[in-house]
Order: sequence, then C-alpha cells, then structure tokens
Amino acid sequence: MELVSLIVPCYNEQESLPYLYEELCRVMTSLSDYEFEILFINDGSKDDTLKLIRALSKRDERVKYISFSRNFGKEAAMYAGFCNAKGDYTAVMDADMQDPPSLLPEMLRIIKEENYDSVATRRVSREGEPPIRSFFARQFYKLINKISDADIVDGARDFRLMKKQMVDAIVSMTEYNRFSKGIFGWIGFKTYWLPYENVERVAGETKWSFWKLFIYALNGIINFSQVPLYIASCFGIMLTIVAAIMIIFIILRRLIMGDPVQGWASTACIIIFIGGVQLFCMGIIGQYLAKTYLEVKQRPQYIVAESNIEKTEK
Ligand code: UDP
Ligand code: MG
Repeated sequence: MELVSLIVPCYNEQESLPYLYEELCRVMTSLSDYEFEILFINDGSKDDTLKLIRALSKRDERVKYISFSRNFGKEAAMYAGFCNAKGDYTAVMDADMQDPPSLLPEMLRIIKEENYDSVATRRVSREGEPPIRSFFARQFYKLINKISDADIVDGARDFRLMKKQMVDAIVSMTEYNRFSKGIFGWIGFKTYWLPYENVERVAGETKWSFWKLFIYALNGIINFSQVPLYIASCFGIMLTIVAAIMIIFIILRRLIMGDPVQGWASTACIIIFIGGVQLFCMGIIGQYLAKTYLEVKQRPQYIVAESNIEKTEK
C-alpha cells in the first residue's frame, strides 16, 4: 500500500487540534487504499499543544511528532516535516482546518489518475478576512510574479499534496531564509490548481499580524528577486544623468549671465534628496547583505527538543 504523509505545523493550536484529528481520522478511514502517517510539528507552542500531540501519539501509532525547542516559524516547521516525511505522497496542511482535509480524496485522485506531480490549492474567495489585508495580498502576488521566476498563483495556499520526487527537491533546497510559496513554484514540476472557497479558522486565532505578513512578503521578494537591486542601480544612473545636465546648465548660465551668489535653498534640498535616495538604496543592499549573512552562517533551520521519530535532523 502507498503511504501518505500529512505534515501539520502547530503553534498554539490546542483548540483546533481535536477537531483536526477527528476530521483527519474520518478522511483516513474513507481512503482505505492508502496508509497514513500524521506528522505534527510543534513549533514551540506555549499552550498545551504538545501534551495533546503526545497523548494522540500514544493512542494512535500513525501519529508522529517533532517538537521544537522554541518558535522557529511555520517555514521551519514545514521544512522539518518534509525532511522527515516518508510517504510516497506528502501533504502540508494548517492545524486550523482552513486547509480542509476533506479535499484530500479529490487531491489523491487527481495526482494518481491525471498524472500530476502535485495538487495545490488556492482560495478563490477571501471572505472573513479584513479587506485591506486582501488588497495588499493581491498586490503582493501581482508584484512578485512580475519580478521573480517563482510562479505564484493569487490565493495560493501552502496546502498541497506532492509526490516524493518533489519533496526530495524541496529538502535539497537548504536555504535558511525560506519562502515556501516561492520554493514550490521555483522547483517546477506539473502542478494542478484546485480552487476552493475560503474557510474560516475552526478555533483559536491567526498567528499572523498584518506587520508579520508584511515582513514575510518583503522576505519573499528579496528571496526570489534581484529587481530591488536593479532599482537601486537605476536610481544611481538617473541621478548621474540629471547631475550632468545640471552642471552643463550652470556653467552656461555662469558664462552668459554672470553669477550672483544665490540658491542655497535649492542646494540644501538637493543634498537632502540625494542623501535620502542614497540611504534608501543602501537599505536595499543592506537587506540582501543581511540575508547573505544569515545564509553563510549555515545555522540549522530548527532545533528539536523532543520527538517520537528517530531521524529528526536533515
Ligand atoms: N504556525 C506555525 N508557526 C508559527 C505560526 C504559525 O507553525 O510561527 C502554524 C499554525 O499553527 C497553523 C499554520 O501555521 O497551523 C497557519 O497559521 P495561521 O492559521 O495562524 O495563519 P493564517 O491561516 O491566518 O494565515
Ligand atoms: Mg489559518
């Protein structure tokens, strides 16, 4: 029988886990042609999530878990899952049931019968989400698709089912600054996009503030595009041209009209303007430098504190 691994990153999910487990059991029973393992990744939860997972793993041998020594973020949690998933097929899903487990049978059918390497999901609606958040999310997808080769569909979720080959490709990407939506697109393979209506969280609350999402989006751009660096260079070139024209203009004016001392205000404005542009560009370069700094340190993505599987390091 083929094995399906389900990776579930959990950060303070004690309220939603019982619902998820129950629903997963229902789905797993209905898919009797497959074997399953559920990989709960406890991402340094401060509530009773770990206790719950431990209890589940004692009761049900399909339940595996890895518990981090602190909160390393959802990206690290997903990576830990991929590194330890043994399935012929692997799926990642949120613990809050916003990635409905009931889609799994359909996803498995598509991947097997229609010969795709992965089945990914996208939300076609964003009901229940603050409108500004949706607006910025849309702009982000437009922008990143224009300026990078990480092909990301608007409304794409991290919820997808993949063949082993694709999981191996993801595990082989050991970068420290991870942006999974970009990585999934970057590695290629044939992906089927399954649309579904947005589902609201079953319990608990979102772990993403607007600010956290904004930083995450910036990260995505910096990780998958060099365009901001080109913008910095373009500013440099543009300003050099403007300065050359101004120099010629001033020399001509001096020769033709003579030059009473004048114009300190415009000089001050120019200095401030150029200073601003320079700092802005240095900021962009700094962002890339900071990422490079973190990459070269080659720190592990996560530290395991406790687990019931043997192989837990990548
Ligand atoms: N999550 C995590 N580590 C974090 C933040 C979130 O493992 O630092 C998990 C969380 O438990 C959930 C999933 O990532 O299973 C998605 O988080 P959430 O539902 O809060 O995000 P949203 O759906 O609101 O974008
Ligand atoms: Mg959610």
